[in-house]
Amino acid sequence: MNTELVRIDGSAGEGGGQILRSALALALATGRPFEITNIRAGRKKPGLLRQHLTAVTAAAAVSGTQAPGARLGAGELRFTPGAIAPGEYRFAVGTAGSTTLVLQTVLPPLLVARGPSTLILEGGTHNPYAPPFDFLAKAFLPLVARMGPQVEAVLERPGFYPAGGGCIRVHVTPAASLGRLDLLERGEIGRTLARAVVSNLPRNIADRELKCVRDLLGWDRESLQVEETASHGPGNLLMLEIESERLTEVFTAFGERSIRAENVGRAAVDEARDYLASGAPVGPHLADQLLLPMAMAGGGSFRTVAPTRHALTNIEVLKKFLEIEVRVEKEGRGVWRIELGAR
Ligand code: ATP
Repeated sequence: MNTELVRIDGSAGEGGGQILRSALALALATGRPFEITNIRAGRKKPGLLRQHLTAVTAAAAVSGTQAPGARLGAGELRFTPGAIAPGEYRFAVGTAGSTTLVLQTVLPPLLVARGPSTLILEGGTHNPYAPPFDFLAKAFLPLVARMGPQVEAVLERPGFYPAGGGCIRVHVTPAASLGRLDLLERGEIGRTLARAVVSNLPRNIADRELKCVRDLLGWDRESLQVEETASHGPGNLLMLEIESERLTEVFTAFGERSIRAENVGRAAVDEARDYLASGAPVGPHLADQLLLPMAMAGGGSFRTVAPTRHALTNIEVLKKFLEIEVRVEKEGRGVWRIELGAR
């Protein structure tokens, strides 16, 4: 086993929290220690925030190790993983810290651990700039299941930014190793569903968002759904689910106090339109999140829309830990092919 220290500059590329989370996940998956400097150096509040600190603590917990130096605001860190210990864990991310981003950190090694795990994650379940719970449950995890492991995720309580207070429970049945996944075609588009969620806010907001979807995408009434849900604070989001023969994609826009419902509607519609027009199976967020399990599998490929900085940065982090080659090629207007294979 290669135990050489990996050195990472946290300000490289996208320069955000994802570099740290991917490094933690890869350290756990490969057993390699790493040292990261300039953590989130380009962000307004650099260093470890609550969510990132919980990710470090969680990574340490699932591998029975400690993370000395991990504290709020820390700009550098050295992490030496221990052996992966599947089991039952509870991680509280703080008020509305993203539970799904903490899951993004510890899930990869647990997918191939020696036994099943149950994770209870408390905090935000639907946060801007993070995968909403429904994206994980409907888009990401079914693809992971095709690689071998079974992951069941249950939303026990929604938590919206900033009040939080949500909870998700995730049960992982691992596989001996991850199988290769190729997502080059999406096949015919099947069911589409727009879900406008409001919590402690007027239903009218959801109606206006759905009207945008009807007007701009032409989806019929059966495809439009208002969900009024209870949570600790106000919350609103619009999720557009697009099922095709090979996978489901979920595009999300979040409501904010100063943003009109029509603009929230339009933001989600724009993302869905770009995806539909490209003909590619994999959208921008799924693209950056599939890279890590595919690299762990030793190979995989997919067609996607223009790769984001998150995706390109993730590729650089992967290459530091694994002997993997990643080819990113533009194939046509708005369509790219990403191929991972042994170096
Ligand atoms: P920062 O350091 O910028 O504060 P962060 O640690 O909160 O950031 P990022 O580094 O920006 O997080 O990573 C966010 C992750 O969440 C990425 O993997 C991205 O694909 C994912 N993500 C963001 N928005 C969505 C969405 N609407 N649907 C699915 N995934 C999303």
